[in-house]
Amino acid sequence: MAEAFDVIIIGAGIMGCSSAFQLATRGLKVCVLEKSVIGAGPSGKSSAIIRQHYSNEVTARMAFHSLRVFQNFADVVGGDAGFRRTGFLVLTPEKDLEGLKANVAMQRRVGIDTQIIESTEVVRRWPFLETADLVAAAYEPESGYADPNLTLNSYVQAAKGRGATFKLETEVTGVRFMGDKVQGVDTTEGSFDAPVVVNCAGPWGARVARFAGIGVPIDSCRVQVAFFRRPRGYEVGHPVVADFNHAVYWRQETGSLTLVGLIDPSEKDAVVDPEAYRETVDSDFVADVGERLVKRFPAMERSEHTGGYAALYDITPDWHPLMDELIEGSGFYICAGFSGHGFKLGPAVGLMVADMVGGSITPGMDRRLFRLNRFAENDPVRGRYKYSIAG
Ligand SMILES: Cc1cc2nc3c(=O)[nH]c(=O)nc-3n(C[C@H](O)[C@H](O)[C@H](O)COP(=O)(O)OP(=O)(O)OC[C@H]3O[C@@H](n4cnc5c(N)ncnc54)[C@H](O)[C@@H]3O)c2cc1C
Repeated sequence: MAEAFDVIIIGAGIMGCSSAFQLATRGLKVCVLEKSVIGAGPSGKSSAIIRQHYSNEVTARMAFHSLRVFQNFADVVGGDAGFRRTGFLVLTPEKDLEGLKANVAMQRRVGIDTQIIESTEVVRRWPFLETADLVAAAYEPESGYADPNLTLNSYVQAAKGRGATFKLETEVTGVRFMGDKVQGVDTTEGSFDAPVVVNCAGPWGARVARFAGIGVPIDSCRVQVAFFRRPRGYEVGHPVVADFNHAVYWRQETGSLTLVGLIDPSEKDAVVDPEAYRETVDSDFVADVGERLVKRFPAMERSEHTGGYAALYDITPDWHPLMDELIEGSGFYICAGFSGHGFKLGPAVGLMVADMVGGSITPGMDRRLFRLNRFAENDPVRGRYKYSIAG
């Protein structure tokens, strides 16, 4: 007879692990099935920037809640998330000024510690930044970045401590139904039963949904990051920067390194097979992001390139996730499509998945914004910027 659980989660990325923690905390018997190892997908390669700057209130609240968890991880979850508070700076050109102001006003209503600062103030605080092209900036002193693999492993330990089971190198190959109700899954290691199955498979989310004959608009897209060693005199570090003028983001990394990636809507066009894509960084990407970095941080002209890699975003048409029951009343749910900005939301998402399975809604965190039907209803989640990933 197949081993039976209350809930089966497919995928041990941040969403699967955080959801397992929350569901197990609510007393459910949870099993996470992972085809590889913990964090094998984008979660383990995430830049893991924890910022709160979003365009809509639900995601801002999710980010606000999640930052509190990252700040107090040992008490709230247990273990370490490697959170480092560096501050987060958004830099904008003229065309984004109104969006920036509206976002900051909304975020302050939510309780987020953020403020608009003039470019003269940016120079005063961070004299190494070039600001001639800037109109304004927003600054969140409490934000920073986490260590993705530490975070995942802490969630796994905490979930196991509450009775959850993790089966690694166990690939789900099918989802079984009895009539309209999900019954369990088939895997490379046998079958498992549960009345609830949650697809947390990230870039493989569309493939897993197809096991039940359902099409979901999630593309698996190749994205890259590069590392540069800061020159002598700049070892101390810098805040996380989202530079809209040059469509680039960067944060510090250990060893006097700066990690750089793009904020580029065209990343959605690099659709690849998540099982077969080039994982090394392209030299033209390194040259491109290096130039963008130097325009804002001129001393990086003397930096040394020290490598990089490619990973995957799971991108939906509006760059926001799907959190929904895929067939109403079936017990088959999806929580995927975080489109390159999900890591920071992981703690809130776990809560929302537990709510979704239990049929409740935590005030302020209404998952219905992320329903699958929004695309058919022509009611996508709308941001205030064209940099879709900025949310
Ligand atoms: C380079 C990069 C930088 C990023 N930077 C940031 C950032 O700074 N801040 C931020 O908030 N977000 C960032 N993100 C986005 C963030 O990392 C993702 O949104 C998040 O990690 C997605 O987590 P997930 O759990 O949904 O998916 P994943 O991490 O993809 O986990 C899915 C898991 O499912 C498993 N799986 C798939 N199919 C099956 C199957 N059939 N059976 C069993 N297991 C299966 C996979 O092996 C994988 O481990 C970044 C992403 C990348 C790639």
